[in-house]
Amino acid sequence: MALVPALATGLNVLKTASDLTTRIRESLGAREVKLDEVVAKIIEIQGLISDGRTALIDVQDELLEKNRKILALEQEKQKLQELLSKKQQGRVHDNAAWKILGDGTEEGPYCPNCYEKTHNFIQRHRGALNYGLVSFICAEHGKSFVFHVPVAICGESPSDKPKGKSVPPLMRSDFPTR
Ligand SMILES: [Zn+2]
Repeated sequence: MALVPALATGLNVLKTASDLTTRIRESLGAREVKLDEVVAKIIEIQGLISDGRTALIDVQDELLEKNRKILALEQEKQKLQELLSKKQQGRVHDNAAWKILGDGTEEGPYCPNCYEKTHNFIQRHRGALNYGLVSFICAEHGKSFVFHVPVAICGESPSDKPKGKSVPPLMRSDFPTR
């Protein structure tokens, strides 16, 4: 039985039992009572109480089942929220994952594979620079996964993204400008 109808049935039955009890008490008070009638009414009341109990036990089972479902949904919701908040902490571009800092700047690069899979930022080792691309080796994947990021956006310190196409200081001293 569904929850609300079962509850209504239980309450109705118990109200009828209560009304019957009141009537018996009144007829006992008026002393116009016949013993076999009282016994019949008591049996009727016992039947009603039993029906009411059955309906309320259904309600109890239904509530327990609903509570179990609510708990499972709460846990699922929490998992999804954790995943979502992790996902919002970073983005993927230029072959790498980047952590978004509080001021909106990016820190990285981090392993894009690990980020896509777990949304964690895994430490990486900086490798060689070739053709304007820096090789990075993922600490988790080891040498099995190397990703290449344009050197222009690989700041040595977090969010140290060079702005524009300024000439590196080393080259400037080699070729002084006027
Ligand atoms: Zn990785």
